[in-house]
Amino acid sequence: MICYNRRMEKKTSLEDIVSLCKRRGFIYQGSEVYGGLAGTWDYGPLGVELKRRIMQAWWKFFVESRDDMYGVDAAIIMNPKTWVASGHVATFADPLVEDLVTKKRYRADHLLKDAGENADGLKPEDLNKLIKEKNIKSPDGNALSEVRMFNMMFSTNVGPIASDESVAYLRPETAQGIFTNYRNVVDSLYPSLPFGIAQQGKAFRNEISPRDFVFRSREFEQMEIEYFVHPEKWQEPFEALLADIYEFLELMGLPKDKVHELEVTDADRAHYSKRTIDIEFDYPIGREELMGLAYRTDFDLKNIQRESGKNMEYVVKGTSEKFVPHVIEPSFGVERLVMAVLCSSYREDEVNGDKRVVLGLPENLAPYRFAVAPLLKNKPELVAKAREVYEVLREKYSNVAWDDNGNIGKRYRRQDEIGTPHCIVVDFTTLKDGTVTVRDRDTTEQTRVQLSEL
Ligand code: ATP
Repeated sequence: MICYNRRMEKKTSLEDIVSLCKRRGFIYQGSEVYGGLAGTWDYGPLGVELKRRIMQAWWKFFVESRDDMYGVDAAIIMNPKTWVASGHVATFADPLVEDLVTKKRYRADHLLKDAGENADGLKPEDLNKLIKEKNIKSPDGNALSEVRMFNMMFSTNVGPIASDESVAYLRPETAQGIFTNYRNVVDSLYPSLPFGIAQQGKAFRNEISPRDFVFRSREFEQMEIEYFVHPEKWQEPFEALLADIYEFLELMGLPKDKVHELEVTDADRAHYSKRTIDIEFDYPIGREELMGLAYRTDFDLKNIQRESGKNMEYVVKGTSEKFVPHVIEPSFGVERLVMAVLCSSYREDEVNGDKRVVLGLPENLAPYRFAVAPLLKNKPELVAKAREVYEVLREKYSNVAWDDNGNIGKRYRRQDEIGTPHCIVVDFTTLKDGTVTVRDRDTTEQTRVQLSEL
C-alpha cells in the first residue's frame, strides 16, 4: 500500500533530475573525467535507452505510420553554401555581452529576461539602451560591455589544408539537410503534395552560455519535418500538424496542464514566417520552449533555387500547374523532450514508511519493461527458474532487466527509480504451481500470475 506523505507536494527541482540522471546512469556531464566540456552531455546506459525510445516513438508516429512522410539522414557537414543560402552565415547570431571585470560572457537577452525584462527580438542598439536604462549588471555585479552579435555556428576545415576556402560548418539545425534533398526525394519517389520529409540527428550551436542541464546544450539532437504544401493551402495542414504534436506529446506522458501554446507575435517571428507557434513546457526552471511549429513559406526552397541555380518547382501530376511549394516545419529538440519526460514522470512518495523515488515513465519509454528476480539469490532452483522466465521474456521484449542484487525491497526501490513498470519475482510457490509475483511500479500492488499468462 502506498502512504503518500507531504513530500508528494514537494516541487521537483532541476537538481532532483540532474542527481537522478547521474546516480542511475541516464545522463553524465560530457568528458567528465577531464573536468567536463561546457554544454556537452553523455547519455549513460539507461539514458541511451530512454532517448532512443523517444526518438523511435517519434519516427513511428510521424513517419512510419503515415503515407505522406519520407525519411532522410543527411550528412552533418554540408557544403558551406547551404548556410549562406539559408541566412545562417549572416544572421545566426545571439547578442553577447561581457562582464568588464571577470571577462565572463553572457547572452544579453537572457540577463534582461532574468531581470524581468522582455528582450525578445530586440536589435543590439535597443538591447544596449535597455541594459543602460535598467542598470543591468552581470551576475557577479559588474558592469557590462556593449552588445555585439556572436555567430553560433561551429566552423571546421574540410580536407588537409586549413584555409578560407576549406571552412565548413557543423550543422546548426537538421532542417537544411531536408531542404537540400527536397529535389532528390521528388525526383526519385514522386510524392503527391502535400508531403513531408523528416530527419533526426545531431545539431551543433556554440551557445554563449549553455545552461539548465541538457536544456541549452552546444551539441544536441533534433527531430524535424518539412511539410511541403500548395502555397494557398497551408492553414489546414498547419492545424493538423499542431493536433498531431499534441497527440504525440500526450503519448510521451506529458501532462496537458504543463504544455502551453505561445502564438509568436509579428515582432518576434522570423521575417519569412507567416505563423509560428512555440510549444512551451513547465520545466522546473520555468516555462520554456519545448519545440516549435513554423509556417516558413517558400523562403528556404527559393533561397536554394537562387543560390544553386536548380529548379525547385513542383509540377502537379497530370497538369501544367507548377510552383515552389510552401513549408510547415514542426521542430523538436530531443534533449528538451527527454527533460520534459523525466520532469513529468519524476515523483517522490512513501511506501510503508520508506521514502522512494519513482519515475512513472510511460510503459513504451521505460528503459526496462520488466525486471526479473529470484526471491533469493543463493537458492539455485529459484535462480534457474527465474533465468528461464527472464530468457522467455527477453525473447519477446528485448528490454528486460535481471536484478538479483540486495533484498527484494531494495530491488523494487531501484527499479522504481529507473521507471521499470513491472517486477517479476520467482519464489518457492513458483516451483510448485507455476505462478510468479508481478509487482506494479505505480500502485506497488503485487499479484500472482500464471507464467503462461505473462
Ligand atoms: P531558443 O530560443 O530556446 O534558443 P530556438 O528558438 O533558437 O531555441 P530553434 O532554432 O527553433 O530553437 O530550434 C528548434 C528546437 O531545437 C527548439 O525548439 C529546441 O527544442 C531545440 N534546441 C534549440 N537550441 C537548443 C539547444 N541549445 N539545446 C538543446 N535543444 C535546443
